Amino acid sequence: MPKLTHRGVGMTSQRTRNRLIERLREQGIANQQILDVMAMTPRHLFVDEALAHRAYEDTALPIGHSQTISQPYIVARMTELLMGHEAPERVLEVGTGSGYQTAILAQLVKEVFTVERISALLEQARTRFRTLGLKSVRHRHDDGHIGWADRGPFDGILCTASPRQVPEALVEQLRIGGRLVIPVGGDEQHLHVITRTEAGFDDEIIEPVRFVPLVGGRS
Ligand code: SAH
Repeated sequence: MPKLTHRGVGMTSQRTRNRLIERLREQGIANQQILDVMAMTPRHLFVDEALAHRAYEDTALPIGHSQTISQPYIVARMTELLMGHEAPERVLEVGTGSGYQTAILAQLVKEVFTVERISALLEQARTRFRTLGLKSVRHRHDDGHIGWADRGPFDGILCTASPRQVPEALVEQLRIGGRLVIPVGGDEQHLHVITRTEAGFDDEIIEPVRFVPLVGGRS
């Protein structure tokens, strides 16, 4: 898997990052590979400079355009659910946002495809991928409700914004055995893991979560 060319340890100490990793472990994140990748990834490069000092707190932070970078615990949890027993090779992310979740995935799986509806956010995220040397990420400015049909089927799909109902296209673009990790709901949301089986789909509800809504169209 690609190694980051820029770890940016300068402005925040490795100790601050390690504290976050300890906290994730205490909250039940057990996959060491994910914890290692999160310990090495400079989250402060994914937020505005004015917020960089808060980048290693376990909290969501604003990234402009009324959007947020997900809380590290949620990033770790969703990644762990996506990885399952057998690591997926081809993964679609819906909702690039800051690109932080994308960067974590790109260090764990072979191919990452990411879709974002707000072009300004996607442009910033692309700059970060370049800075970090993450060359395997493919991106697209589009409404992720439709997935990315001509690049599917996917071993895993991770959606980082919450629809009221699971978009049909996303489950259709799963390979058999593939899994979709997605928050579902409005004021009340739950994280679901939907697995495509030979016979249909298994839907497992994991825990209550809080995401920005999955919105239609592009801007
Ligand atoms: N994974 C991101 C989370 C960003 S918040 C991170 O770690 O920073 C969710 C993102 O989903 C926002 O950037 C929002 O613009 C995007 N989004 C919302 N609806 C979308 C849609 N229909 N298609 C693609 N992206 C969408």
